[in-house]
Amino acid sequence: MNFPVSAAVAKRERLWLPRRVLVTKSALGHSHGRAIAERAVGFGLPVEELKSDRLPLALSDDPRRAYAEAKMTLAVTVAPPSKLKLQPIAPSADWRVDLAEGCPAHCNYCYLAGSLKGAPITRAYANLDEIVANLRPYVGEGTVTSRQAARQAEGTTFEASCYTDPLGVEHLTGSLAAMIEHFGQWNADAQLRFTTKFASVDPLLDLQHGRRTRVRFSLNPALYGRFEGGTSPVAARLQAMRRMAEAGYRIGLTIAPIILVEGWEDAYHGLVLDVAAALDGVAADPDLTVELITHRFTEGSRSVLQSWYPGSALDMTSLNRTEKRTKFGAVKHVYDRPTMKEARIFFERGIAEHLPQARILYWT
Ligand code: SF4
Repeated sequence: MNFPVSAAVAKRERLWLPRRVLVTKSALGHSHGRAIAERAVGFGLPVEELKSDRLPLALSDDPRRAYAEAKMTLAVTVAPPSKLKLQPIAPSADWRVDLAEGCPAHCNYCYLAGSLKGAPITRAYANLDEIVANLRPYVGEGTVTSRQAARQAEGTTFEASCYTDPLGVEHLTGSLAAMIEHFGQWNADAQLRFTTKFASVDPLLDLQHGRRTRVRFSLNPALYGRFEGGTSPVAARLQAMRRMAEAGYRIGLTIAPIILVEGWEDAYHGLVLDVAAALDGVAADPDLTVELITHRFTEGSRSVLQSWYPGSALDMTSLNRTEKRTKFGAVKHVYDRPTMKEARIFFERGIAEHLPQARILYWT
C-alpha cells in the first residue's frame, strides 16, 4: 500500500506514534480498518488484532500512568449506529461528522474532557464507507443559527473536528484525505470543515478538494504554548495555513480558546499580526473566516482537567467569570459580561484593521 507519510518523516515531524494499536474484530471486517492497521505496521507500531470488539485496555491503577497509557493508545473500531445519526452543531456547522474520537495532544483546556467519558484513548473509525454514505440525507438540512448570512454560500456544512483533531491522527488513518476527496467529487451543495492544532498538511496539499473543504487553524499566542502540549508550534501552524491557502483550500482561523490573562491584549495583537504576515502575498483567494471562542469550562471538565494536568497554570478560578446555563441545563463558567465585551471589541477591531479580508463567523 502507498503510505503518504513515511516512518522517517513521522519521527522527524514528531507526529503521534502510539505505543499500542488495538484493532477490533469488526474493524478488521472493513477495508479502511485494515488499511489503518497496515499503516500502523508500516510505522513499526505494535498492532494487536483482537478476537472480539472488547478493548482490553488494562490501564494502570495510578491515575497519572493510566492517563499516559491511554493517551498512547489507538483503537481502530467501528463507529456505532448512534454515530450515523448526525447531530446539529451550531454555530460551528450544520452537522457533526465523526471520523475518530479522542486526540493525542495534551491541551490543558481540552473541551473533550467535558464531552468524552472514560479513558482518553483515541479511536479511529474503520467504517468510513458507511460514514461517507450516511451524509447524503443531511444535505439541504441545517440549523438556523449555523446558516447565517455570513456563510450562506457554503451550502450544508459538516464539521469533522468536534470529538477529535483529525489532522493529528491523519498520518495513521488517511480518513481526512478520503473525506476531502469525497467532498471534492461530490456533486452536492455541501462543505467539509475541520479545525486543527497540527501542521502536518503535506498529504492534503495535492488532493482534488474542489474548494469544498475549509480548514481552520486553531491558534493562540505562542506564549500560551505551555497549555498546548503535543500540538504543532504556532509558527508551524501558520506556515501550514499558508500552504493550504496556496493549494486552493478555503481557510479559517479558530482563535480558541481565547484566554484573558494579564497581557492578553499584546499577545493576541501579536497573533493577529503574525496571521497577516503568514498570509501576505498568497496567490489564491483564501476566503478567510474567523471563529472566536473564549475559554470556558464546566465543573465536570475542570475536575477532569485538573486530574490530568495537576500542575497547570491555566486559570480556572472564578476570577472574571460568570455562570451560563446551556439549553441542556449544564452550567458553564464563562468570562463575565464586561470582560467579554472588552475582548470582543478588541478582536473585532484588530481583525478589521489587520485582516480586512476576513469574515468573522461568530463570537462565543
Ligand atoms: Fe483537545 Fe484540540 Fe488540544 Fe486535541 S488539539 S487535546 S482536541 S484541544
